[in-house]
Amino acid sequence: MIRINQITKSYEGTRALDDVSLEIGRNEVVSVIGYSGSGKSTLIKCIAGLEPFESGSIVTDIQPRNGYNGIGMVFSRSNLFPHLTILQNLMLAPVKVLGRPKEEVEEEAIQMLDKVGIWAVKDAYPDTLSSGQRQRAAIARSLMMHPEILLLDEPTSSLDPLSTREVFNVLTTLKDQMTIVLVTHNTDFARSISDRIVFMSNGKVCEEGTPSEIIDHPKERQTRSYINHCMNMVYEITSPKYDHPELNARIEVFCMRYRLPFSDTYSLQLAVEELLNLIPLDEGVNLLVAKSEKGLEIEAALPKSEEPYLSKESIKDDLSYSILEGLCERIEEGTNESNDTVIRMTLKQNTI
Ligand code: ADP
Ligand code: MG
Repeated sequence: MIRINQITKSYEGTRALDDVSLEIGRNEVVSVIGYSGSGKSTLIKCIAGLEPFESGSIVTDIQPRNGYNGIGMVFSRSNLFPHLTILQNLMLAPVKVLGRPKEEVEEEAIQMLDKVGIWAVKDAYPDTLSSGQRQRAAIARSLMMHPEILLLDEPTSSLDPLSTREVFNVLTTLKDQMTIVLVTHNTDFARSISDRIVFMSNGKVCEEGTPSEIIDHPKERQTRSYINHCMNMVYEITSPKYDHPELNARIEVFCMRYRLPFSDTYSLQLAVEELLNLIPLDEGVNLLVAKSEKGLEIEAALPKSEEPYLSKESIKDDLSYSILEGLCERIEEGTNESNDTVIRMTLKQNTI
């Protein structure tokens, strides 16, 4: 149990936490999401006792053991000791801080490395491991202290998708065994592992609820805008011979992930295909498919041209253009910050 009561914390005039109250139950998994600078790291550092705060209180039900506060912490960079092997990294604190016998700790450390799938690298030094393996070692090292609360601050933010999955698989095995507070931008994972999601904005808890309440039905304007911002798919087309089935599959995955109806999948695929019929692809096109408050949007960024791509009379007569007009409630051509041409389209709702 963690009871955070009206804490406020400032750094040189910046209010990082502003009257934050939150209660986290025993063995509950809570994800904290929000834009960068919203106070997520400060909040978990305060829970860990690593940062003092000006007012309010944080109470837990943990009994400290031999000076260990029962709280484990994992950062986005693993912070393993570079001069120690992975096994030695895991053994250090239980032996030195808790005074446990070396042999017993070694046996447990080996089991722990097996559990997180990196037993084979137990005698390697951290800099020879992949970043995903290092992150799993860092989690294993925290677990060696048998924490009652595990705090993780963007543990996968520097990892590729495969390593991200491996780390998340490890975390999933810990559910129901300890209290977990996870700061992440990965809303898919937050949805699958969390009992509750907290959305922070400007140092405050803006909204909290079940994953479905926060991700599928956010109430606050800031939460909606953050969630929408996370809900997009980018696809880069480098030549006219792009992989059309792959692009369609990506759109399908995007729609499945956000539980969009099949009619939306079909409209998106059709609109993207017709758009790509109308614009030159040889110099590359960056596609963005996003779900926003306005609905489903498609953006295509392509090199700037003298004449607008979609205004030519010949294009207006094109069958592809008529189909696009039928599918979209808005088609606009403009420029972005990098001075590329951007075509923005919003699909009509339930056209099919
Ligand atoms: P998040 O983790 O959500 O990105 P942080 O908790 O790191 O946000 O930061 C919240 C606010 O506090 C930001 O405005 C940030 O610039 C400020 N801040 C964080 N740490 C420090 C620090 N050590 N010194 C000064 N300002 C800080
Ligand atoms: Mg942070």
